[in-house]
Amino acid sequence: MINIRLPKLQLNHDNKLFWSLFSPVFGISIITCTFLILSRFNDLDDNLYQRTQHITEQVATTSEYAIVFSDQNMMYRILQNALSNQYISSVQLFNSEQKIIAELGSEFITQITGFPTASEIQKFPDHVVSISAVHYNNNALDGAFNPQADLFTPMSQQNLIGWVKIQADTAVVQIQKYQYASLVLLIFFAFNLCSGLIFLRITKQLIQPVKNIENTLSKLAKEQFSVAKLMRLPVEYHTLQKDLLFLTERLEHNKQEMTAGIEQATEDLRRSMDSMEEKSAQLHIANREATESNRLKSQFLANISHEVRTPLNAILGYTKTLQKGIKDPQHKLYIDTIEQSTNSLLAIIGDILDFSKIEAGKLSLESNHFNLRALIDDVYQTLSINLLTKEKQIDLVTEFDAQLPEWIIGDSTRVRQILTNLIGNAIKFTHQGSVKTKVSCQTQSDNKLTLLFQIIDTGIGIPEHKIDRLFKPFSQVDTSTTRQFGGTGLGLVISKKLVEQMQGKIEVSSDPSIGSTFRFSLCLQASGNLMNQKDSLDRHIILLEPNSTYRAHLTSYLHSIGVKTTRCSDIEQLISALKEKADTIDGIVLSLGPEETSVEETKELINYANQHFSIPCIVMIQPPRNITQNPELKALASEILLKPVSHDRLYKALQQIDQRVIQVDEDSDSTPIESDQPRQGLKILAVDDAPINLQLLSHWLQPHGIEVALAYSGQQALALASEQSFDLIFMDIQMPEMDGMETTQQLRQLKSYQNTPIIALTAHALGSEQQQILASGMNAYLTKPIAEEVLFHTIDEWCSNTKTFQQQVDATLVNIFDMQKALDIVDGKTEIAREMFTMLADSLNNEKKLIQHHLENQDTEKLIEVVHRIHGASKYTGTFNIARHAGFLETHLKELGMEDVEGVAEDFIHAIDDLLNHRDLITWPQE
Ligand code: ADP
Repeated sequence: MINIRLPKLQLNHDNKLFWSLFSPVFGISIITCTFLILSRFNDLDDNLYQRTQHITEQVATTSEYAIVFSDQNMMYRILQNALSNQYISSVQLFNSEQKIIAELGSEFITQITGFPTASEIQKFPDHVVSISAVHYNNNALDGAFNPQADLFTPMSQQNLIGWVKIQADTAVVQIQKYQYASLVLLIFFAFNLCSGLIFLRITKQLIQPVKNIENTLSKLAKEQFSVAKLMRLPVEYHTLQKDLLFLTERLEHNKQEMTAGIEQATEDLRRSMDSMEEKSAQLHIANREATESNRLKSQFLANISHEVRTPLNAILGYTKTLQKGIKDPQHKLYIDTIEQSTNSLLAIIGDILDFSKIEAGKLSLESNHFNLRALIDDVYQTLSINLLTKEKQIDLVTEFDAQLPEWIIGDSTRVRQILTNLIGNAIKFTHQGSVKTKVSCQTQSDNKLTLLFQIIDTGIGIPEHKIDRLFKPFSQVDTSTTRQFGGTGLGLVISKKLVEQMQGKIEVSSDPSIGSTFRFSLCLQASGNLMNQKDSLDRHIILLEPNSTYRAHLTSYLHSIGVKTTRCSDIEQLISALKEKADTIDGIVLSLGPEETSVEETKELINYANQHFSIPCIVMIQPPRNITQNPELKALASEILLKPVSHDRLYKALQQIDQRVIQVDEDSDSTPIESDQPRQGLKILAVDDAPINLQLLSHWLQPHGIEVALAYSGQQALALASEQSFDLIFMDIQMPEMDGMETTQQLRQLKSYQNTPIIALTAHALGSEQQQILASGMNAYLTKPIAEEVLFHTIDEWCSNTKTFQQQVDATLVNIFDMQKALDIVDGKTEIAREMFTMLADSLNNEKKLIQHHLENQDTEKLIEVVHRIHGASKYTGTFNIARHAGFLETHLKELGMEDVEGVAEDFIHAIDDLLNHRDLITWPQE
């Protein structure tokens, strides 16, 4: 498109002023001239018409007698006289028959046909024709000349005797008009020229000072004060000039002051910049030192953990082995104490490690399906065995909301840890009464759940003024109780952090006269897993439970699984109920009282029920009593359950109650021995630089028919592996010269070891190291100290596993990363795909922190910005799970803002964590 620019007609001030003065004068003069010319032209025309008409009438009057007497001479004299007028060009005389009787002058231009009875004038562009009738006045005098005239006719009579026709030329009038118009125009031009010049001068005089002022102001704007001071204005502008000078001086002064101020500020700024730079450098150094010392701290904790767990592994392992053979109760007590102390030591190390992980922000949550009721039952079981003593007879009760889903998705290990801490504390600080755990569902939308846990005890309580220090690291309510109860003061801090990481809150209310209640909420997910949906049992049992609260609790559970109950509070009641309803009763569930005598009574009762009615009995015993202390009871009872009874175990026991009564006599004393058949002949290589650990391993494995080869270093392991073949390898991580991960990498290079299960034995518990272990090519890891059962379970699991290592890795990555997608996008160019992936993965840690920050500040716009950025990048790097969740979050934020965003954001962060935790497992193809 062609753009044509037309110059704009712009008037400056001078022109404007000039034209505003001159244009009215000019306009008026034009109007005046026009008026003068037109009126003069009119006058001249009128004058011509009047004169022509007047001459015509004069000729008509004077030619009356000439016509009457047909005096040609007279006629021509009259016509000559008329023609002598400068306007008249032709004259004609007509008789009464309209015939020309005399004419003079030029020929008539227009021929007129009609003759009027009086006079008439006709106008043409270049001439005028005037006609006038000639009448004869017949009066007395005429009689004298006319003897035939009747004396009785009236005295005066007019007779039409002819006409006079005169043609007048307008040429003379035209000349007069031109002359007049020229004169007027001349005057017009002269006048306008003069007034134009005058106005030009006035304009200049008025505009010049304004221009001067304008010029001065522009100089002022450019801060040319000296030039501005030189400005001179006419005397009329004296005040203005004075004010302008004053303004100039003020401005000059202000500018000087400002310049000085700016210079000073710049100098100050430069100085503070210097000091800031210095401070920033110092901070940078301090930060580096802090990061380094933090890294050293983590390293130190990992090392300590390794160093402490390694001997503990041996202590626990051998303690367990010794426990089996010892008969002397005194020695048994010593061994139990060693085991308990070792476990406490392990718990402390665990707490310290957790605390340091939380401090370093390295604690990441896992997600798995778990049965919450079973988990809580399990926690109670473990704690009651470990913490209840003979002197401490407290009721342990659990209460579940009926709406609570059986299966939950979340980090079961961490949920267990929180519950163990809180319930453990409650049992620890309660001497009598009860410890009750209530679980209810606070909110449920879709599959998101907020669960409320309450741990209510009737213990020593916490004074109100000391509640504040509960959640501070290493603090305990008072040091004397520390000595009495032990503990590191870390349990509640860790629990609080874990609860907060699961989007929950923890609070406590306590009264030393009543006890304490710890409440916390957790945001988890309901699982669609229905594995634990139990069938109704359709049984009728007699329940003997002296504690009414616990009896009611059990009854409600038994009803929920379809078991009818006849409730009794003592043995007498039970016997009479038994006699009464023996035919309809399927079994007895009875609680063993705390007194020693009650064991004997119970035995008799079981015998009685078995022998007389063939009714089996399930016995519930309260820790610290345990089954091993009552071998005879164990032989008689269909099942012995520890209180608080696990719902799962009670269900199983009731389910199998029919079979067990038959077996009672047959294998009452024997525990089923697991078959070693599948383990027979296995060849296992154990690699560890600590001989004590290797010894323990071979001590455990050899009795089961497993052939164990021991390697004390990575090199030795490689040498052994190249000579023989093994079904499974246990590999220590920290070893001098070649560590476990490097050894594994080299083993995986050997063809025959590409798919051999390699299990790490590690004391390291930091999440990042666990990922490194898996990335180095190991299949799984066991954390030291290793329990014998766990060891065998691992052997069984991995020796029956038919998956190759790559299949296992692929199965892990299948929901996280799609290599094909990542490569397709860049036409199969591995190097580019890898670079893009690394760029994204490297940025994710920081992006995650940003997301959390914006979430906390409820900053929707910035959050959308970050999520959008990740969404875009993740679409091209094969990280489809992140892309999917980023998409969900972005849409949610755009449509609903921050409303209910927590769950969606949490899923997105999980997806990021998943990728970061498994990125080392991704192996890129060779280009
Ligand atoms: P510790 O390992 O010492 O138990 P915690 O952080 O678990 O550390 O507890 C800190 C302190 O809080 C305890 O030492 C105890 O004084 C107090 N405390 C915790 N739970 C209870 C409770 N249920 N009743 C009374 N005091 C409690």
